[in-house]
Amino acid sequence: MSLDHGQVRPLFDKAPAHGECIEVAPGILWTRFPLPFRLNHVNVYLIEDGDGYAIFDTGMGTEVTQRQWETMAGDVLAGQRVTRVFASHFHMDHIGCAGWLCNRFNAPLWTGKVTYLYNSFFFDRPAVLDQDEFRAYFRKQGMTADQTHAITTEGHDFGKLIGRLPNSYRRIVPGETLVIGERRFEVLAGEGHAPEQLMLYARDDKLLLVGDQVLTRISPNVAVSAMGPDDDPLGLFMDSLRDLKTRVDHDVMVLPGHHLPFTGLHQRCDELIAHHEDRCHEVLEACARSDASLTDLVDVLFAHVTDTQQFNFAFGETHAHVNYLLRRTALREVPDSYGVRRFRTA
Ligand SMILES: [Zn+2]
Repeated sequence: MSLDHGQVRPLFDKAPAHGECIEVAPGILWTRFPLPFRLNHVNVYLIEDGDGYAIFDTGMGTEVTQRQWETMAGDVLAGQRVTRVFASHFHMDHIGCAGWLCNRFNAPLWTGKVTYLYNSFFFDRPAVLDQDEFRAYFRKQGMTADQTHAITTEGHDFGKLIGRLPNSYRRIVPGETLVIGERRFEVLAGEGHAPEQLMLYARDDKLLLVGDQVLTRISPNVAVSAMGPDDDPLGLFMDSLRDLKTRVDHDVMVLPGHHLPFTGLHQRCDELIAHHEDRCHEVLEACARSDASLTDLVDVLFAHVTDTQQFNFAFGETHAHVNYLLRRTALREVPDSYGVRRFRTA
């Protein structure tokens, strides 16, 4: 298989069925778990590790996921130890089942400190947004009362998709080298989609377990949350993609959290940066035509948002573009007598 030209292209024709495995490289198995969303699956990898397998990402903390792991325990994992459970970032589809897995297979959790703490925080406070402080905040961004109610109350069910993490874990730190089986993996960190998202890079084998930092068919969600309303995740994301290009060879096999393994990493990083630059341009054009609130701008960037979950993603992502432009003084906030923040092209 030649990976020598820079174009983004999938390296497999089709994905494994849920619970089945495809060997993507010697000793590295790829499987899938279902998600009950429009994005209907998450990729999970098993890495040969001495007398067993290390697991990289876990699926959500649901019975469906657990049943699939039990099936695999009697199949691909039969007679094998689970040596450790890695979680790339704090999103429930990647770490949700980690606590259950560690317990089931008597294996330690290996993850980043930010991931561990974030996940623990949301496990304990699934309804964190359901407070007057946040309702006032969303109204100030131009949301209707109904939109505000939906965004601060729906999503509490997400708490059920996150399992409790083990009480202790092995912290992994960007820059360290991990030996898994016969391979050496450098630990890299990405920003923007999730804070300190961990990636594993086997330079000698030209393999990159990338989590959700770089995906092909979709742009990883980059969103401001109401808990960090002045954050600039988009700036961090774009810097992080530029940084990744300097650290990882262009011709690696990328093993992502969703969709098919692919090659063309550098090209895909460039495409994602260009995509966000285009989106910023759309925001600037809209705000040059008339002053706009964040909620107005959701309609500019996301014309077909229907349900609350999509609106939630769209709002956070629009916020990320506005904050990016505010930080770089391409946008400015204008005084508004109705108590709604509005923005104008500077
Ligand atoms: Zn994610």
